[in-house]
Amino acid sequence: MAKTPGKQPQKQKHLPLRTCIACRETKPKRELLRVVRTPDGHVFVDATGKKSGRGAYISARLSCWQKALKEHRIEHELETTLSEEDRAGILEFMSTLPADEQPVATNASNKPVAGTAKAHPGKTS
Ligand SMILES: [Zn+2]
Repeated sequence: MAKTPGKQPQKQKHLPLRTCIACRETKPKRELLRVVRTPDGHVFVDATGKKSGRGAYISARLSCWQKALKEHRIEHELETTLSEEDRAGILEFMSTLPADEQPVATNASNKPVAGTAKAHPGKTS
């Protein structure tokens, strides 16, 4: 009788989850961006996710970054104070983020182009 080989453990992809410090949503790490505070106190966006230092995760969503900055969540999370330089760096990074999907501000009123003076076609008799 053939010995059945032990069940091969299915290599399940383990998705590391992280929580966004702004919206508190838990997402797979790859959907979040990491901010790191380096040992020398600098704070910047860690695109590789591999920098050593204390890290915090924020969704790849502009609104989360705005919130994180506005409510000092990065500073709180990393227990530091953002220097002007670091803040500028983060703002610069934020400018590369696509804006959140927002309802496009459409002009609800379908006004025809101004200057339609043809309201009264002269009645000719
Ligand atoms: Zn978020």
